[in-house]
Amino acid sequence: MTALDNAYTRVSDFKDMEAELIETRQHLHANPELSFEETETSRFVAEKLESWGFEVTRNVGGHGVVARMTVGESKKSIGIRADMDALPILEETGALYASKVPGKMHACGHDGHTTVLLGAAQHLAKTRRFNGTVTLIFQPAEEGGKPSGAQKMIDDGLFERFPIDAIFGLHNHPGAPEGTLLLRSGPMMASSDTAKITIKGKGGHASRPHLTIDPVVVACNLVVALQTVVARNIDPTQTAVVTVGTIHAGEAVNVIPESAKLALSIRSFDPRIRDLLQERITKLTNSVVEGFGASVEIDYERGYPVVVNSEEETAFARTVAEELIGTDKVSTCHLIPGSEDFACFLEHKPGSFLRLGNGMNSAILHSAKYDFADASLTVGAAMWARLAERYLA
Ligand SMILES: [Zn+2]
Ligand SMILES: [Zn+2]
Repeated sequence: MTALDNAYTRVSDFKDMEAELIETRQHLHANPELSFEETETSRFVAEKLESWGFEVTRNVGGHGVVARMTVGESKKSIGIRADMDALPILEETGALYASKVPGKMHACGHDGHTTVLLGAAQHLAKTRRFNGTVTLIFQPAEEGGKPSGAQKMIDDGLFERFPIDAIFGLHNHPGAPEGTLLLRSGPMMASSDTAKITIKGKGGHASRPHLTIDPVVVACNLVVALQTVVARNIDPTQTAVVTVGTIHAGEAVNVIPESAKLALSIRSFDPRIRDLLQERITKLTNSVVEGFGASVEIDYERGYPVVVNSEEETAFARTVAEELIGTDKVSTCHLIPGSEDFACFLEHKPGSFLRLGNGMNSAILHSAKYDFADASLTVGAAMWARLAERYLA
């Protein structure tokens, strides 16, 4: 054992707390609350944090909870975030602690994220081996769409009221072994934008198309044209997705309808590509539709931004992870086409979003059979505790 091992938290320090962590996780799992409805979850979290001596502020940007603890003279502060909300899914895990609320479940593992941060909080409050301020951010409504919990907390003055130097967060990762950590510097998870397109043609009788402007034909041409945005406008070394998820037009076989509606899901891993996608999709849509003599309304909505991890903070977190669990259990994460509103925090503060292995056989996120791996709880909690201690050494 080295001197460094003695100075900072180890995973084995959580051995005695493991049963309590599992109990907390399974309690949260059995009692899921949807985005913007996290009343009991946030109360549960706030009461625990208060009992451990944290200065707790409730109702930050909705049901958000911020807990702070200062030790020593340093003005430095680390922010660590966990999300708390569940999804509208009917659980099919068959677990003893399965959701007590039909149609709601923790299918994204936010019960686990909340638990590991609570575990770190309890441990840090007991050991107090840091110099500065630990700022713990328990966020509601990650799954809520725009404006989601992260943005609402920021709009409620999160960073002005609770200044931090950097922010860290984690998500469990199905497909990686339990108790492992994955990190990535730079872009990691995609931005997620949508475009709702309404093509207005001129309806009429199916037998007299020359007297109409058929929005079905316009829509079909537009779908094909949109395939060229990724294929012909995006640098081949970059990546992006343009998916036409819905297309609706017409009610009767003998009627040419007045209008057609399309909805697009648009994803990218680079803020510049994101801008280019919006520009090309908008221009192309206008041109194609105009070419057919129809008119168009485009409702282009920017959702969660790209998760861009800062280099310095990611390297730091990686060092801490390697100290904690060994280099063989720490790896570089691939690009993830899903999105995360943690990206909103990273637009304001340097930081890093980590992934915590949820097992090779874990069901995928947002599936009715998904469950957070309790075997990863102690590693998650120890990682946050050690990260805080090392950051505020
Ligand atoms: Zn999710
Ligand atoms: Zn999630």
